[in-house]
Amino acid sequence: MYQLKRALLAGIFTGIFTVGSALPVLAQQAPAPQKTCANPNALGVSRVVEIDTTGGPGFGFQHYKSYDFLEAKEVVLTFDDGPQKFHTEAVLAALAEQCTKAIFFSIGKMALGYPEILRKVAAEGHTIGTHTWSHANLRKKKTEAEAVDEIERGMSAVKRAVGGPIAPFFRFPELADSPETIKHLQDRNVAMFSTDIDSFDFKFRSSEHTVKAVIDRLGKLGKGIVLMHDIQPSTAKAIPALLVALKQGGYKIVQMKPKAPLQTLPEFDTAIESSVKGLSSAANERPTSSVVRTVSEPGVSKLGGEPPAAQMIPAPTAAQPDTPAAGKAETANDQRQRTWFWQK
Ligand SMILES: [Zn+2]
Repeated sequence: MYQLKRALLAGIFTGIFTVGSALPVLAQQAPAPQKTCANPNALGVSRVVEIDTTGGPGFGFQHYKSYDFLEAKEVVLTFDDGPQKFHTEAVLAALAEQCTKAIFFSIGKMALGYPEILRKVAAEGHTIGTHTWSHANLRKKKTEAEAVDEIERGMSAVKRAVGGPIAPFFRFPELADSPETIKHLQDRNVAMFSTDIDSFDFKFRSSEHTVKAVIDRLGKLGKGIVLMHDIQPSTAKAIPALLVALKQGGYKIVQMKPKAPLQTLPEFDTAIESSVKGLSSAANERPTSSVVRTVSEPGVSKLGGEPPAAQMIPAPTAAQPDTPAAGKAETANDQRQRTWFWQK
């Protein structure tokens, strides 16, 4: 009896909390079994929260002030705009070294460009959300249909790249939401993410600045959802030091997971599927980096904002091995890949 009681108590204190329509509701689930961590001083994951995305809750006090679910010193790490060769993998390696987890908000085009990297993100147990098809500012779209297309095409592409379930978690490019797009995501039961702590890593592009910006802001707020970009080389370089600084500062990492996976819409799945047809059978069987070359084919390209073929991400070659290399000097080609989707 005593053992049972102790087990129940342990279950309650380490269990998954549900945040969403009601908050925070204790769910009757056992914690997911954790792989043993080889690093005795790892930052780790202090708890997992499960999000009921029904009705499209918003997180991150910069825009959405409904769900104050983080305790003092609790931090959620998020990375936008990837996956990207070298940098996403360096971020993954740093997170693995500290046995900790994050949310990756992936762009549809990038996901089809580097599906193998995104699958690694998924395999390592991180949460994968989406960030539109081409990183378009949805407030600048002329029609609601165009904005919805960006959102849905991104979701279908990311799911296609992962080849498995992804989270109904979404972040607006440039955090630019609108009443129409919010309504759409609410109707789709997709959670929206703003931020509490914007690292502005894309502006300063300095690893020292990124670590200092996040730690300073956390010192003031005491907790929060941190926004960074795994496509930035300076961020990839900053993460090992940032994770050590978080541990030293007594911060704890919370992982956010969805209660149920994202349901993509069949017409957008079909559009993405048709965009990868006509490739070699091997590529068609599983998306590879060369998939991006066909994205300008009819059915996708007419939806606007496609960069010319010369700026498409080329398939990896022997000269560009898919190995983590934080801080590695970028070639002109890497630079083009890293920034290609901004060049419109
Ligand atoms: Zn972004």
